[in-house]
Formats: sequence, structure tokens, C-alpha cells
Amino acid sequence: MSASEVAGLREDIENLYEAVPQLKNVFNIKDKIGEGTFSSVYLGTALLKSGEEEKFALKHLIPTSHPVRIAAELQCLTEAGGQENVMGIKYCLRKNDHVVIIMPYLEHESFLDILNNLTFDEVRDYMFNLLKALRHIHHFGIVHRDIKPSNFLYNRRLKEYALVDFGLAQGTPDTKIELLKVVKSEGQQGSCSLNKAHITGNRVSVPHPSSKPLAPPSASKVPISKPGALSQSQIKAGKDGKEGFVNLSAQRSVFGERNFNIRISAPTDIAIMRPIKQPRMMMDVSSRKLAPRKKVVPLKTASSVAARKSASTCPSNLTCDCYATDRVCSVCLSRRQQVAARAGTPGFRAPEVLTKCPDQTTAIDVWSAGIIFLSLLSGRYPFFKASDDLTALAQIMTILGSRETIRAAKTFGKSVLCSKEAPAQNLRTLCENLRGTNLSGRKSDPMHRPLNSCGPDLQTDNPKKETFVSPQSHEEQDQKMLPPKNTVTGDFKRMRIDMKGWDLVPDEAYHLLGRLLDLNPATRITADEALVHPFFRALSS
Ligand code: ADP
Ligand code: MG
Ligand code: ZN
Repeated sequence: MSASEVAGLREDIENLYEAVPQLKNVFNIKDKIGEGTFSSVYLGTALLKSGEEEKFALKHLIPTSHPVRIAAELQCLTEAGGQENVMGIKYCLRKNDHVVIIMPYLEHESFLDILNNLTFDEVRDYMFNLLKALRHIHHFGIVHRDIKPSNFLYNRRLKEYALVDFGLAQGTPDTKIELLKVVKSEGQQGSCSLNKAHITGNRVSVPHPSSKPLAPPSASKVPISKPGALSQSQIKAGKDGKEGFVNLSAQRSVFGERNFNIRISAPTDIAIMRPIKQPRMMMDVSSRKLAPRKKVVPLKTASSVAARKSASTCPSNLTCDCYATDRVCSVCLSRRQQVAARAGTPGFRAPEVLTKCPDQTTAIDVWSAGIIFLSLLSGRYPFFKASDDLTALAQIMTILGSRETIRAAKTFGKSVLCSKEAPAQNLRTLCENLRGTNLSGRKSDPMHRPLNSCGPDLQTDNPKKETFVSPQSHEEQDQKMLPPKNTVTGDFKRMRIDMKGWDLVPDEAYHLLGRLLDLNPATRITADEALVHPFFRALSS
């Protein structure tokens, strides 16, 4: 830590003491352990009556968080937390609009640091415990919406796990968390901002959500905004007009309602994908034109209800002249965007989230768990690194197949067009090649080789290159992805000793992976079912 960083930390801690003075009576705040768009998390110690020091995690929510959102996060922790690998809560302190959630501190690993030295058995345990946490919250009717390694704390030494961060959680229709019912209805009313500033020509540009500097790509805190919290942000934006929040609302409207002839720009190869809404969901052109052009539209207004009504009653034969072309026509430009929550980080979002399917269930968390499993099996993190949803969807297609993705999307009412076909890859071959454990002489089909869109090392800062690649370029990429040839032959014996179980990955692992990453949420395995999958036979739930 540099001197200026130390000074900055000191200042942050002083500010927190000032904002919530009660803290000073109990806690000695020592360090900042997490900083995101919506909170800062500190490590604090408290002196117990016994004379012992106990560690706590103090999560200071940004003061602009919506009170209902905060209360819902707290209710998730109090009702579902403290058991089954879900973080519990000890206290909560508040002064004015400053809220600090106090949790037991769980020291944890950085996912990236341990990813490539975990044994296969550790990976199995990790997945089992993650799924256990998911089963538990799903029984409570909680959809976490932001399942990723930085929200699943893992203490390798103690074999302890804790799911954290209910800041984006939503409720299922029968949720047991009362406040999630409120949060959910807000989310569904959601944003109806009509913002085209971020679609210029055929390119989609995602504005940076805040003025905070970007973290390096490998950092656990990916500086992606949390669109799910947007409805609250928007309420706030009207009140205090915080710049960051206005930007957030702009970011959410990257997807227009049907103006999906969005070209994923690439210098050489172009993928055009157009998730197209089903006719019954399309809106009447005239009502679209009347849609307010304000950036922020108040929730639950009569006009948004009316707009919704007209959406369901509009003629089904309404078409435009840009279908299957790479431009966006004026009709489409004036369409209202579809309202659907899109929380989380693009690389972890399920296809139904990426295509803004309005019915999102607990299955979205299971998908994200599948993405984590994919990282663990392949040794690549983040596996999909996409700055926007279309790129993320294109990356999914390169692994699970474009036809398969299109077919699945149909089942949840979305048509996706893709300019180029990408075959589904064999998951074992893919993971073994990426991990460098494909030593068994298993012949890898060139079409089943890894693509450049799946490894962080091949990512580029140039957004123009963030696209999915043409099959012709695979060969080139393989040179970088596969282990050097001599490790396959000469060092084979020595390597076997250090394989940590990676030479004996059973087929069940890849079967489960495929079931977690089922493109169709209706048939995707549940956490409940996954825990009794043959992959976990040796473990008990
Ligand atoms: P955010 O909403 O800002 O992402 P999180 O609740 O995910 O906030 O916490 C951010 C980070 O703080 C986590 O990724 C983790 O590193 C750390 N953290 C959170 N809660 C705890 C805890 N109870 N014990 C230890 N570290 C924690
Ligand atoms: Mg988090
Ligand atoms: Zn059009």
C-alpha cells in the first residue's frame, strides 16, 4: 500500500466513524476489504467481554440506496442467513441515511489466486457448498441475481463457505421474504426510459457507470454497475440528481425494445444478433412515439401502465423494414425498451437475463453457478468477459452453440438471429484444453477447440475486438491456449504426480456442468436436484 493509499483509507475510515458515530464505541475499523458501486466493506474488530477480539465485516451501504432495497437485503440476511453457507448478520447500525450491516468476518481466498491450484476434490466441495447455499435461499424464494465468486466467500483452510451480498436479490412470486415482494414489484415496473444516446449507428456503447476508476480485469470487484438496483437509483436520481445514477439509467437502456439489429462491431467478422420480441409483446407504433422522452420516468405512473396495456394489445402483424438487416430503422428507434431486470455481471448472466426475458426465476442463479463451475474446470476466470449483454450472449453461443442458443431462446419467447453459426463444443475437451490437462492423447476435434472469447488472457481492451470470432481463427488461438508440446511428452510422469485429481475428472462433472448451463431455464437443473447429482455421490447433503 502506498502512502497515499494509506491516507485515503484513513480518511474513509474517519468519514465512516463520523457518519455513524455509534461504530466508534464498539469497533476498531482496520481495513477496507471490499469496495463496489453500492457499498464499501470494512474489517473491524470488537473487544468482547471475555477480553477476546472478534473480527467483523462492516458493510457500509451507499447513502443513496433505496430504504426498501436496504431493508430487503437485511431481511434476506436475517431470515435466510446464518445457516447452510449463507452469511448471517450480527447487527445493523444506522444514522440518517447511513446504514452499516455488521456480519461475522469470514477470511476468504481470492478466486483468481487459488483457481489453478485447487485440487479436483476441492472443486467438487466448492460446488457442492455453493449449491447448498443456493438450495437454501431458493427455498426461501430468494433469487440472488449476482452469483459470482466474489459473492461466495471461501475459506480454504477452514473449509467454510458463505454466500453474501443480497443487494440485488429479488423474490419469487411465493417468496417468504416479505420485503422482496415490494422490491420485486418495483423491479417489474422498472425502467421505461427511452434513451437512444447510447446507440450510435449500429454500435452499442455502454457508458461507464460511474466516475470511479476501472479496476483491472482480474480484480474481484468488477466495476460493472448493478442495473437491478436501478429502479431505486432512478427514484433517487430525480431527487438528488447524482450523476452516477443518471448514467446507470442510461446504461440500462442499451437494449431497445426491438431495435436489435445491433451489430456487434468487429474489424473482420461481424455477428449480428437480434433477439426479437414476440408479437404479443410488441408495442403499437403510435403509443411508442408518444412515450415520454424523459431520461427518468417515475415508477408506477399511469402512462407506463397504459403503455404496458397497449403493448399487449397491439397488432401482431406489426413489422418494420429493418428486420434481418444491420441497421436500425426509425420505427425501431422509437420503440420503448422492454422492462426486465438485468442484474448482475454480464459474464454470469443467464441467456434469459441477457435477452431480457421478463420471467426470471431461481434458475438464473443456477446458471451463474454453472459459469463458476466452468471457470473451476477450465482454470479460466473470468470465463466470459463481456462489457455488454449481446457480447455475453455471443460468447455463450461459441461454447454452447448458436443453434442451441437460438432454440432455447425460442422457448422463452425470444428470437435471436446470428450471422454465423457456431457449433456447440464438447465441454470436457474445452475445459481440458484450457486447463492444459488434455494429456491423455484424446484427439481434439478442431471445431471443439477453445475460442478466443473464453479466456481472459485473450481479451482486449479494445471494445471493437470484443466479439466472437470466426471459426477460421481458432487455429491461431490454439497456439496460445494449449500447453507447450513438451509438457505432453517429456514431463508427463512428473506432471501426473501433481495432477491433483485433474487427470481423473469423471464424466459426471461435465454432465452436471451441462445441466447447470442448460440454455433453457425450464429444463435447467435446480440446486436441489444438483445436490443429488451422481457427481456428488460421495458427498452427503
Ligand atoms: P457489494 O454489494 O459492494 O458487492 P458485498 O456484500 O458483495 O458488497 O461485499 C463486498 C466484498 O466484501 C466481498 O466480495 C468480500 O470480499 C467482502 N465481504 C463481504 N462480506 C464479508 C464477510 N462477512 N466477511 C468477510 N468479507 C466480506
Ligand atoms: Mg458483491
Ligand atoms: Zn426496424
